[in-house]
Amino acid sequence: MTQPYRFCPLCAAALTPIEKGGRVRLACPECGFIHYRNPTVGVAAVILDGNNVLLGRRSPTSSYSGAWCFPCGHVEWEEDVRAATHRECLEETGFEVAVHEVIAVHSNFHNPNQHTVGIWFRCEIVGGTLQAGDDLDLVAWFSLFDLPEPLAFPTDQLVLTQLQQTVGGA
Ligand SMILES: [Zn+2]
Repeated sequence: MTQPYRFCPLCAAALTPIEKGGRVRLACPECGFIHYRNPTVGVAAVILDGNNVLLGRRSPTSSYSGAWCFPCGHVEWEEDVRAATHRECLEETGFEVAVHEVIAVHSNFHNPNQHTVGIWFRCEIVGGTLQAGDDLDLVAWFSLFDLPEPLAFPTDQLVLTQLQQTVGGA
């Protein structure tokens, strides 16, 4: 496991590895701070229109540039997960959405330096105009059975497969 931090964020002493709870963690010998490394939370908007799904292409300045994903992003500190979904959707697609039920939850391990827990919400467009922005440079509708490639995130594929089965079985 990579250990990106070298100094205590509280007192700036050098961190040293200790074992706690069956894992090696970085701890501060001066003030007792222990760096518990946890995943952050990501949210994604699943917007369907019949058998079509709204996906975005990641912009040249974003990570995974040129690959496709659901409109998504990280939840900010003190931000509710549904508020984050609404915000990311507006920033990336131009659409105001109502955020409905959870469609899927997955752990994301594709980036070894940033593990996340992703929550995919079913969203419904209630306003706005299609306009790609922020991490996306193109947003478009695709048939669930004719999806663009490559996808940016392996777990988006899991959710799209789940949607194909749901729609196909309906
Ligand atoms: Zn310290």
